[in-house]
Amino acid sequence: FDDRDGWIWWDGEFVPWREAKLHVLSHGLHYASAVFEGERCYSGNIFKLREHTERLLNSGRILGFEIPWAAEEIDAACVETVRRNGLTDAYVRPIAWRGSEEIGVAAQLTSVHLAIAVWEWGAYFGVEQRMKGVRLCMAPWRRPHPSTAPTASKATGLYMIGTMSKHAAMDGGYDDALMLDWKGDVAESTGANIFFNMGGELHTPTPVNFLDGITRRTVMGLAKQHQIKVVERTIAEAEMKDASEVFLAGTAAEVTPVREIAGHSFTPGKVTETLMRDYEALVRLSPEEVAKRGA
Ligand code: PMP
Repeated sequence: FDDRDGWIWWDGEFVPWREAKLHVLSHGLHYASAVFEGERCYSGNIFKLREHTERLLNSGRILGFEIPWAAEEIDAACVETVRRNGLTDAYVRPIAWRGSEEIGVAAQLTSVHLAIAVWEWGAYFGVEQRMKGVRLCMAPWRRPHPSTAPTASKATGLYMIGTMSKHAAMDGGYDDALMLDWKGDVAESTGANIFFNMGGELHTPTPVNFLDGITRRTVMGLAKQHQIKVVERTIAEAEMKDASEVFLAGTAAEVTPVREIAGHSFTPGKVTETLMRDYEALVRLSPEEVAKRGA
């Protein structure tokens, strides 16, 4: 992904894409002292930009470092990077990491860097096609207890088990893997949160050991606007078969119907389709209109 045209924002400057390289002794590489975001720009507007920026700053603080830019500056840098690359529909990837001044575990003297890359990301499939749904297997790895890892941070180190789980899913012919938490209750997929239609109510795991996704919260708001009751609770693995519909929610996944979880079939239906269409419409509104919608 490094050999392409474009500009990457790096510590306040624009660097040609191919030249955006860092030193091999960066602390972030050796000890995963790095945090990132995944955002999407639709029709020229980055959806819920400030929420992503705040989460980025907070992710760094959870790992014990302060990203040396204010939220307003990071927002402006994201917008400018999209513009500079001539894109309107794009994925936006800010990443912050500790530099190479120290190479031990201790890193108080390292500098903290921030880079922002963007790449084209349009809508690939229409609603009808996506309503077929994706297939999930059970992940071989579990989400750690919040005292075992900084689970509220979008920290790079937490994605190690995500990559291994995703590979296991793909090796088995599945689209993605569903991860349980350390107790064996339902958590999330490798890159999105999960929802179940149970008796007309939307049930979703309480985000105590995984990322409380911005899409997740948005979808909960949209569901409430449709008078669909939303219940956040502990969901046991054995309960999943009781659901009539299942879908994933995340910045990249948007609302993605699920048609199978490890041998149990589901038929994506009305609730999924309603929220999928609603979400698609919401992301295309201006930030002011999004705020007015209150979801
Ligand atoms: N869980 C994980 C592990 C993720 O990587 C993501 C994507 N950032 C999500 C959930 C969904 O979060 P969001 O809706 O904020 O993109």
